[in-house]
Amino acid sequence: MSSGIPRTIPLRNDLAGEEPYGAPQLDVPVCLNVNENPYEPSPEVIESIVRHVREIAPTLNRYPDREHTALREALCTYLARETAVELEPEQVWAANGSNEIMLQIFQAFGGPGRTALGFAPTYSMYPEYARDTFTEWTTVERADDFSIDIEAGIAAIERIKPAIVLITSPNNPTGTPIDVADIARIAAACQNIEVSGAHEGAHPMVIVDEAYAEFRREGAASAHTLIKEYDNIAVSRTLSKAFAYAGARVGYIAANRGAIDALRIVRMPYHLSALTQAAALAALEHTDEQLSQVEHLRATRDQTAAWLSEQVYHNEKLIVADSDSNFIMFGRFLNRHLVFEKLVERGVLIREVGPEGFMRVCMGTDEEMEAFRTALTQVLDELNASGL
Ligand code: PMP
Repeated sequence: MSSGIPRTIPLRNDLAGEEPYGAPQLDVPVCLNVNENPYEPSPEVIESIVRHVREIAPTLNRYPDREHTALREALCTYLARETAVELEPEQVWAANGSNEIMLQIFQAFGGPGRTALGFAPTYSMYPEYARDTFTEWTTVERADDFSIDIEAGIAAIERIKPAIVLITSPNNPTGTPIDVADIARIAAACQNIEVSGAHEGAHPMVIVDEAYAEFRREGAASAHTLIKEYDNIAVSRTLSKAFAYAGARVGYIAANRGAIDALRIVRMPYHLSALTQAAALAALEHTDEQLSQVEHLRATRDQTAAWLSEQVYHNEKLIVADSDSNFIMFGRFLNRHLVFEKLVERGVLIREVGPEGFMRVCMGTDEEMEAFRTALTQVLDELNASGL
């Protein structure tokens, strides 16, 4: 039984003992634990949000546009600018965060008798979507540098014949990107594979989770460039990270129309509230402002990675994973929970996630990063002195 849930409550048998997912929400001055953009909206953007919401407020007695057409058009404009790929609104679909997008993917393509395959370590919500939709979850381990061995990945896909292949790029929590050419190889291989537990002729759907793609290195292409060629590729993104709009809960996915129409079957009627649609449209009108700190956060990431890799723990330099994202995974500590607690004592919240002994810090403002460096230096001094 899950803690606190009485036996009289008929919780699903397979959910007994499960805990709700989520990073601790602690009241500390420096929160670097959930990969947000630390910069709040400008006064102009706030004005625009209020104006858009005021405009639709008189219609709140009515249900919203179920197809959120204006938002899909605005997302196409954004994607054309960010990826240089032109899509039709019918090829884009939005929901309450990419969390809901992913759940819809599992609802539409997963299910009993089907498998989803990911590359571990990776985002820890994926097994939960699988659990909630009775989909089998399986992983192929990443290499020591957290990259994907494409040959081994394809071999596993050929053996398992999953309905969903989940590629996270850049990956969370490691920050590792994957080349678009490698994604294309996987998608091409999938076109010769028949999904186990599906109708004849069904190929694995390759879902590329690009939640952090705007932080990728200069010149790296997005998987959107593959959508035209592969009807089994869908690319998910979010306004929560680089776009600095996590509180609004807007995620979206792009694919060929058939895949989007499959998601429309499982969505809740009117899943995206009129308030969310209005707020998203307002922010997308201010794309430049919303993205204005991305360049700086990228530079902060590279500087922080260089700093971290010079830090010494137990006579060795820290291991720092190469990141194309707005966070960095580092370690390896004998007792990462101790590091976590000692940082919290100093008002800095990061995340205990990834392989044993590793932690993840997300990029904050310059002041927050200074607080992080000061706190971690003190903690390392203490641990090195005590041998813990
Ligand atoms: N995908 C990845 C890889 C993530 O790290 C996250 C958030 N931590 C999400 C999806 C979900 O983000 P959101 O629901 O805010 O769009």
